[in-house]
Amino acid sequence: MPPAAVLLWAGLVAGSTVLVTSAPLLVSSLSVWSSGPPQGLATFIPFQRVFTKRGSMTVWRAPGRINLVGEHTDYNDGFVLPFALEVGCTAVVDTAPAGSDGWTVRSAQQPEPVVVRRSGLSSAPDVPEWSRYVLGALWLLTDRGVDVPALDIVVDSDVPTGAGLSSSAALVCSVARALDDHLDLGLDDDALFALTRDVENDAVGAPTGGMDQLVSLRGEAGHALFCDMRSHETRSVPLDLAAHGLTVLVTDTRAPHKHSDGEYGARRRGCEEAARLLGVPALRDVAAGDLDDALRRLDDDELRRYVRHVVTEDERVLSVVRLLDEGRLPEIGPALTASHVSMRDDFRITVPEVDTAVDALHEAGALGARMTGGGFGGCVIGLLPDESVGAAGDAVRAAFADAGFGEPSLFTAAPAPGARAVSPGTRGN
Ligand code: ADP
Ligand code: MG
Repeated sequence: MPPAAVLLWAGLVAGSTVLVTSAPLLVSSLSVWSSGPPQGLATFIPFQRVFTKRGSMTVWRAPGRINLVGEHTDYNDGFVLPFALEVGCTAVVDTAPAGSDGWTVRSAQQPEPVVVRRSGLSSAPDVPEWSRYVLGALWLLTDRGVDVPALDIVVDSDVPTGAGLSSSAALVCSVARALDDHLDLGLDDDALFALTRDVENDAVGAPTGGMDQLVSLRGEAGHALFCDMRSHETRSVPLDLAAHGLTVLVTDTRAPHKHSDGEYGARRRGCEEAARLLGVPALRDVAAGDLDDALRRLDDDELRRYVRHVVTEDERVLSVVRLLDEGRLPEIGPALTASHVSMRDDFRITVPEVDTAVDALHEAGALGARMTGGGFGGCVIGLLPDESVGAAGDAVRAAFADAGFGEPSLFTAAPAPGARAVSPGTRGN
């Protein structure tokens, strides 16, 4: 369901619901995003005046994602199989009012707007980190020779941050698509992907592998997106949960992400070191049939475990894709569970909260369950028969209470479309 803000914008653009307000920006009254439902309508009423007067806004929405299988394979040039979610970020790009020569960025989830002069990345001012996810596209486009005019940009997201659902890609991709549309840049799929990946890598400094941006841009309803992270070629694969009477139940464990940055960096460096020792460009180049031989050639037990995880995880992605292509969705469960075991025992990126959730889901009848996302907390997915979902949720909550963990957040997820224009007034529909 589109957020209320989008419905409001749609009405505004169609000229039917123009509510001009002279109220000041009531940003301080916004409730804290992570503790309540998505903001939307109420949040955006203060902004109406800004956008309705000129009527030149461009509105795009891009989703968060769940990774069905394929963890820590992206930076090893391997395979991933994420799907886009219904939750997402909506970005509104508008030409700035006459007399304003800078870029103004607002987020419904942040108290203060950020206003900067126009520049490239190298001369970018010091700004709050969240705004770099938005301004990054403007800086990089400027660096690439685009004369980006003065703009007002507003974003509003219902993707929880830091839960492993990729609020950052939703934000970056919604802004990039809206900018491309608003400025008539005509960026193709590859250029949009490169821009959104570079925003996170270069403008924010987050070493993401690119999966999140690919699926946020290219996801398709009812499908997962099979991504080759070397060529960045993608292909939609059917994931019709409803047709099989199945549900993906997501548990956001809310476990604090302790040491996740350092541990992520260590895994990444370890994988690169192992590839170097094995004489291959990346661990993707170790064929499954050569795994035993590769393991024998490595002395370091930690590196051996990393290699075993990455090589077997790539195989699991390929096997799940094969099953989905053949319409055998109910049979993917064991591969999901094997992925979790590999992350727990070989890659060692799980924490007690996620292991507890996976165990509880299995006991409640899950066909398969695994942690999703980079690890050290975040979300767990369980593939369940529809009729088991209620009991499985209860089982996870009870297991968390027994273990003395904080209360998890549970919700269901189904594959939704990737980035899309959401207002009838925008170009590019
Ligand atoms: P994830 O992508 O898993 O949610 P990240 O750490 O990659 O976690 O990205 C989260 C960051 O993205 C937030 O800390 C914030 O800086 C930025 N962000 C995401 N959504 C918004 C938003 N709606 N408004 C402002 N910043 C946001
Ligand atoms: Mg992210």
